[in-house]
Amino acid sequence: MSMLEAAEPRQTALPPADQALAEGVLASQRRALAKAITLIESSRPDHQERAHRLLERLLPETGKAIRIGISGVPGAGKSTFIEALGTWLIDRGHRLAVLAVDPSSSVSGGSILGDKTRMENLCQREEAFIRPSPSSGSLGGVAEKTREAMLLCEAAGFDVIIVETVGVGQSETTVAGMVDMFCLLQLPNAGDDLQAIKKGIVEIADMVVINKADIDPRAAQVVRAQWRNALHMLRHTSSHWEPPVLTLSALHKEGIEAFWEQVEAYQAALVPSGDFAARRHRQSIDWMWSLIDSGLRQYFRNHPAVRRDLPDLTHAVAEGRTTPAAAAYKLLADLQT
Ligand code: GDP
Repeated sequence: MSMLEAAEPRQTALPPADQALAEGVLASQRRALAKAITLIESSRPDHQERAHRLLERLLPETGKAIRIGISGVPGAGKSTFIEALGTWLIDRGHRLAVLAVDPSSSVSGGSILGDKTRMENLCQREEAFIRPSPSSGSLGGVAEKTREAMLLCEAAGFDVIIVETVGVGQSETTVAGMVDMFCLLQLPNAGDDLQAIKKGIVEIADMVVINKADIDPRAAQVVRAQWRNALHMLRHTSSHWEPPVLTLSALHKEGIEAFWEQVEAYQAALVPSGDFAARRHRQSIDWMWSLIDSGLRQYFRNHPAVRRDLPDLTHAVAEGRTTPAAAAYKLLADLQT
């Protein structure tokens, strides 16, 4: 009996090709992992069906990694930092997967993150797996694929998952909603903190890192103090954790160990209190509801009566001939015809 059958004896068998894929993922074969991620990223309905069954099968082997979100504006030093951290972690026996959520790749076709020349050293390490952002669909669609890719990486035995994103639009909130610990990478410029406060990002930060502290260490300390003040006034994601503010230099690989100590301290504070598991449970329920919401919307748009009435009612609302509420109720009533 294979490992998979032992894990989930009641499930029907996967088709042989997907069974082999599942076993390849569990055996940490990078090609199998890459292929499985390509399968989940496909929008073809038959691929989706296979992907769901594959994920269902691998689910018992997921959840064992620490999931860390890293966000920062372009140029903040994210890839330099992830490369330094990743190399440091690999040297200590960890295996690291880096995924990206890049809203620019779906909006403009261009990409702020994720080109293959980044993190060159890390790319060459057997213990690292780097995957650029899925490029299809809305931010919600990109996030859904990234969540699933994260599970596949966990099934393949990666014990540290980093989800990288840029400070654009809603992507930070989205990533904070799929990781255990969300870190903001900041430049040592006074005033950056105000931007983040305005955007409501500070509330979701579990750690703030001021990078490039080597350029002007004193300025970095000033910005650090500002951040500490800003964070002190807020309610945090867990009552057992006060988000720390670190300064470091990704370029000179200084402060990497202190960063990891905080990741470990975070787990030590949140796991015993139950907050760590509670966050994951909440995220799973939120994920389910976001899939239900998008499934309902798709069902709605494909419904024959809605397709018939939607264009006219859209015009009527735009021209002020009917109210948005009346149009919405009429279209929702169409679902019952
Ligand atoms: P990303 O767009 O956030 O991924 O930023 P990159 O990692 O590509 O870094 C942007 C630039 O900042 C590069 O030229 C890096 O060499 C530089 N950089 C990154 N970290 C540091 C640092 O700690 N100190 C200094 N002086 N430069 C850095």
